[in-house]
Amino acid sequence: MPNNAVPNSTSHAAERVRGFLASPRTMLIGGRWVPAASGETFESLDPATGRVLTTVPAGGAPDVDRAVAAAERAFDDPAWRDLTPLERGRMLDRLADLIEENADELALLEAQDNGKPVAVARMVDVGASVKLFRYFAGWPSKLEGSTIPVSPRAGMRVLNYTVHEPVGVVGAIVPWNFPMSMACWKLAPALAAGNTVVLKPAEETSLSTLRLGELVAEAGFPDGVVNIVTGYGRVAGQAIADHGRIAKVAFTGSTEVGRTVARAATGNLKKVTLELGGKSPNIVLPDADPELVARGAADAIFFNQGQVCTAGSRLYVHEKIYDDVLAAVVERAKSIVVGPGTDPATQMGPLVSARQRDRVAGYVRSGTEEGGRIAVGGGRPDGLDSAYDDGYFLAPTVFEDTDHGMRVVQEEIFGPVLVAMNWRDEDDLVAKANDTPYGLSAGVWTNDVRAAHRIAGAIKAGTVWVNCYNLTDPASPFGGFKQSGWGREMGREVLGNYTETKSVWVNLT
Ligand code: NAP
Ligand code: MG
Repeated sequence: MPNNAVPNSTSHAAERVRGFLASPRTMLIGGRWVPAASGETFESLDPATGRVLTTVPAGGAPDVDRAVAAAERAFDDPAWRDLTPLERGRMLDRLADLIEENADELALLEAQDNGKPVAVARMVDVGASVKLFRYFAGWPSKLEGSTIPVSPRAGMRVLNYTVHEPVGVVGAIVPWNFPMSMACWKLAPALAAGNTVVLKPAEETSLSTLRLGELVAEAGFPDGVVNIVTGYGRVAGQAIADHGRIAKVAFTGSTEVGRTVARAATGNLKKVTLELGGKSPNIVLPDADPELVARGAADAIFFNQGQVCTAGSRLYVHEKIYDDVLAAVVERAKSIVVGPGTDPATQMGPLVSARQRDRVAGYVRSGTEEGGRIAVGGGRPDGLDSAYDDGYFLAPTVFEDTDHGMRVVQEEIFGPVLVAMNWRDEDDLVAKANDTPYGLSAGVWTNDVRAAHRIAGAIKAGTVWVNCYNLTDPASPFGGFKQSGWGREMGREVLGNYTETKSVWVNLT
């Protein structure tokens, strides 16, 4: 029997979540809610307790096939294909309304399935998804082509213009750290451009995406425009990456799996975009206010349990204020309230799974073995209720005395573990900050406007935040240099990934 109680709440949202969890979930193919063809399922767990929330279908290649066929039919269906741009935009806007109307329920479901604090789920996962659909709702009517002033041979008159057409069936594979918003980062631009989608959520966190699927239908999207296949990455995910009739795959996840997806795409040469890992430097200049920086630096790493691709995981503080900043970061780490995500008082929840907790704990051990000193954290947090004894908790952790070559400095940990280093020479700092295979993001803290822009220019990363961290917006492009990915999400740039440009030549002579 699944334990599906949302603890301590009689709220409307909690009742809705309990209702959602009360029966095994099915997945969405061609407008119908169906089990896997194999009949297999797996359990979705509550990371705060380790208990079963409900089961979801373990979709496989036959299910992906069915979903692709449904998406192909929907792509050619006049009910979708012939919508005017304004009608398509209106549908996206309606979906934004529905997400907003059901925000508390979606946030609670996300908090329970992923472990994150419900306030974070409400503001980031759900709130950002609403903003995404609102922003992309405006795009269908603005996907303009150009009239090109070409130079044909003498005596010939030619009209040449471009049209941006949808690519076809889009495969979307997303991770567990921001389940709903990562799904929406793919869905919103794909749908705005007129594509149809086969989406695979991460096995740990399928639930909010399945609830979103119900809202997609309610918003009026025709059957088969959005299909959701739950399942294991190496099975359902791989089947999407391999599929010969998927025109484009959009992937967010680890760099290692990103490479697998890129290789698989060579079969039918589907287009690929990848949002991958990071090991982002967060750089503090000597003039910065230590208290202000400490808050920013702690938020940059501990937000979402550190399970953030852009996490500010390498903190470089100028030696002049290193001691003050570190002392303040440690104090802040100690003050973070760790608990179950469903408790509104919680500031940091459990990690998403036992596997992820063990992986991060392995990095903590390796950091100590390689000579690092734990300034705070390193193990299970104190003071948790015994109800959470089986939860996947890890205290906010800060390493000092780290060296550039250590694994904890070089590799992505994807957990609440910060490595702190001091610096003196700016050129050496920039060289070290850039000496990583990743290039996703960076932070710079200073009031010196020249130094801020100098360093922002020198860092090889897709995003640089100055005196802030982790700000994103649907209008601003997001993505990685180097092995942090291919292409950009959001903003006008993402639409190029979901459209083909057609050049039409008309002989007027
Ligand atoms: P992951 O293992 O790469 O998984 C990501 C997705 O890929 C999941 O849905 C996974 O399925 C699926 N997958 C696994 N193997 C696959 C395969 N062979 N073929 C196709 N799909 C496959 O990453 P994760 O553990 O979920 O997330 C952590 C990593 O994601 C970190 O490295 C982090 O930096 C990165 N990330 C990057 C961004 C970004 O925007 N750059 C954002 C979030 C996370 P299952 O897990 O369901 O089996
Ligand atoms: Mg779960």
